[in-house]
Amino acid sequence: MIKLARYLKPFALSLALAIALLFAQAMCDLNLPNYMSNIVNIGIQQNGVERAAPDAMSENGMKLMRAFMLADEQALVDANYTLVDASQTDASGKAYTAAYPDAPDKIYVRNTGLSEDALSALDTAFGTATWTMINVMRDYASAQGASGQAGMPAGADDIDLSRLYGMLPMLYALPEASVLDAHDKAVANDQMIRKQSGVLLARAFLSELGADMAAIQNRYIISVGVKMLAIALIGGIATVLVSLISSRVAAGTARNLRRDVFRRVESFSNNEFDRFSTASLITRCTNDVTQIQMLLSFGIRLVCYAPIMAVGGTIMALRKSAGMAWIIAAACTLLIGIILVVVSTVTPRFKLIQKLVDKLNLVSRENLTGLMVIRAFAAQDHERARFEGVNADLTKNTLFVNRMMVLLMPLMMLVMNGTTLLVVWVGAHQIADSAMQVGDLMAFIQYAMQIIMSFLMISMMFIFLPRASVSAERIAEVLDTESSVRDPEKPKHFDPAQPGVVEFRNVSFRYSDAEENALTGITFTALPGQTTAIVGPTGSGKSTIASLLLRFYDATEGRVLVCGADVRDVAQAALRAKIGYVPQKGVLLSGTVGSNLRYGRKDAADAELEQAAAVAQAAEFIDAKPERFEADIAQGGGNVSGGQKQRLSIARALVKKPEILVFDDSFSALDFRTDAALRQALRANTGESTVIVIAQRINTVMNAEQIIVLEDGKVVGRGTHRELLKSCPEYYEIASSQLSKEELA
Ligand code: ADP
Ligand code: MG
Repeated sequence: MIKLARYLKPFALSLALAIALLFAQAMCDLNLPNYMSNIVNIGIQQNGVERAAPDAMSENGMKLMRAFMLADEQALVDANYTLVDASQTDASGKAYTAAYPDAPDKIYVRNTGLSEDALSALDTAFGTATWTMINVMRDYASAQGASGQAGMPAGADDIDLSRLYGMLPMLYALPEASVLDAHDKAVANDQMIRKQSGVLLARAFLSELGADMAAIQNRYIISVGVKMLAIALIGGIATVLVSLISSRVAAGTARNLRRDVFRRVESFSNNEFDRFSTASLITRCTNDVTQIQMLLSFGIRLVCYAPIMAVGGTIMALRKSAGMAWIIAAACTLLIGIILVVVSTVTPRFKLIQKLVDKLNLVSRENLTGLMVIRAFAAQDHERARFEGVNADLTKNTLFVNRMMVLLMPLMMLVMNGTTLLVVWVGAHQIADSAMQVGDLMAFIQYAMQIIMSFLMISMMFIFLPRASVSAERIAEVLDTESSVRDPEKPKHFDPAQPGVVEFRNVSFRYSDAEENALTGITFTALPGQTTAIVGPTGSGKSTIASLLLRFYDATEGRVLVCGADVRDVAQAALRAKIGYVPQKGVLLSGTVGSNLRYGRKDAADAELEQAAAVAQAAEFIDAKPERFEADIAQGGGNVSGGQKQRLSIARALVKKPEILVFDDSFSALDFRTDAALRQALRANTGESTVIVIAQRINTVMNAEQIIVLEDGKVVGRGTHRELLKSCPEYYEIASSQLSKEELA
């Protein structure tokens, strides 16, 4: 996983932007419940009056409140309130009359531009004064032995201000000690409760001045609502942008990964192809990369957002009610427990699933490419069973994993709903005790949900992560595999004095997974202008010689020299540019006849194509096609016969006009007549090229200047046809099985 982190580097800027946006989104989401709580608490329950310190009040009102304040509180109020003349005819006077139509000539108004600190100090002062008043009234009532006003009235409308004003002279006559005592008791109350009671009085003071209470409420609710809308909009925009960025980053990273895996695979020598199966390489380049892409597009969104929400939500929830924190802690503990159980059962399955996808690919690939063989041997049932076995395995494991994931959802819902229930239960008691407001309870529930959701998201990551990390490992394995055949740091040059000379010096070779040498102590030289033939039974190592010459593998021992240079000392491209190779199995690429022939030399002229086709005996069937060189070749050359494929492969090598031509059993699919014609044409056209012909047919090699006889990877004879018939019993044996008595003589 870490190894692939460098693939995120090009997207560092996008990632930083995404994180910033996620932060913005989280802030928005965290603030919305707070505003909602304000609408409920202030907008609905306090009729839109925010503060215990009223915006304006009558002189009597001020007198009443001051009666219950200590000196420092009185000083604070004096500093922040101004007595104004509301009956003036100037602009400010008119504004006062409009806002407070019932106001007497002189009213106290709160100074504008006060800091939040000053305002909340004022709120506390007024709230405390309200409770001091309540306490004084209680004491007074009990002293009178009458059932006077026992506590706070239920609503602002129940407050009879004129009755209170009537008591003013009596209140100012009270002994200072009793006020102090009541004040001490008031301070013992929760600040929030003091403020709420203060707000009730503030509303009474405002409506005394004739303020439009309904308008105040509307104004408050609408202003908070508009803020909420704006925040939701910003949050929404951030969400969309983050999704866009994360998708781009994920898709871009996947593209780069695929490109690098593909390039790496292309550089692989046959050794590495033997190690990874083709099916597995395809899965790694497609499915595994997709896993990473999925992880990224979810991950970028979740990895940053969820922790911010978890921490932010906890802070906000604690601010709303620290007393209920234990509920969130309990819910989270339960969640983590559930997640741990699920993750630990699911993770091992992911590794298995990727392996099974590999296997499914392998079986389907083999079945599709080998369809004809399967049908010819009536092995459909066997293959079907094989496919169904793998398919069922994959299905079983995928189902298991998905069942576990699906189980997660209802469990989470249970925890969430249980939490809500508990919060409402506990919160209701707190509200009954006036320790909490309804809006705060609602906000607390929302924060609890946000916290749980963020844990859920983090847990999802823990489920995706193991799967993606399996994939990442598989990709990194490919990327970390250095091709065993590599270009030298400082490529040497070929010896211009030895053009086309091929020399094997005591070469031995063993396939990496084999126990025995495929070739042992091979020594020979092939000269330009001559044909060197290699004959031997199947499995004797003929194709392996061609592979070493083209440096598909490196020799285990000894040296392979081309044009006087060791093949390990020159660039692979330079080496292969010198060689025209016709593989044992003709392989064509999708395109046209012309595009296939030009594969080795893009700028070959039409006449050269014609000539190469004529030499390769391919002209006849090309001419039979109306589009000739423009005729389509299907993928893998599926629409031409084996013999035609071979002839096109030969023509392709000839168009390249290489110094060295290697034919690996290229004439085996040709009939005798075509074989003979082709050899004759070749002889006339290859000129100074070194021709290496690998064959099993004696006819094909009879006229070669040099024939090398291979058996079990060793050279058992070398010479011309005539010499070998006499000196080499292995050659004689092959020849006698193919030629008539007269030809052997
Ligand atoms: P020929 O072309 O003469 O029929 P090859 O050169 O293809 O023979 O193979 C020589 C020996 O090497 C054989 O025994 C074969 O089984 C083995 N061999 C060929 N290719 C591989 C491979 N990729 N991995 C392991 N062994 C191989
Ligand atoms: Mg072979």
